[in-house]
Amino acid sequence: MELEGAVFIPKKERHVFYGEVQSEFEWCLHCERAFKTGFRKIIPDHNTDANQYCPYPTCDGSAIDIFPWEIDYYEDGSIQENAFGTTLVRTYGELPEIGVRYPLT
Ligand SMILES: [Zn+2]
Repeated sequence: MELEGAVFIPKKERHVFYGEVQSEFEWCLHCERAFKTGFRKIIPDHNTDANQYCPYPTCDGSAIDIFPWEIDYYEDGSIQENAFGTTLVRTYGELPEIGVRYPLT
């Protein structure tokens, strides 16, 4: 399912605040929905350079609201928790569906 109006932003041009996690999907704290990594809604007339937003048309979550869906692992195999001290994939155990809300637990 494609999100209307969303565009793919190449990694080097993408505003990302969560580090080097490799994830097929990203998740928005604002609307609690997931989407394919790298897709954003662009609002070019915004008065800052933070013009990359959550790709869902009805959400105004910005780049700082976007986190990787999958957890990351340290080299020793232990789980690196996300900024909220929780891990989304551990809760749901599978890849997300587009449009479904996945609240933090
Ligand atoms: Zn959102």
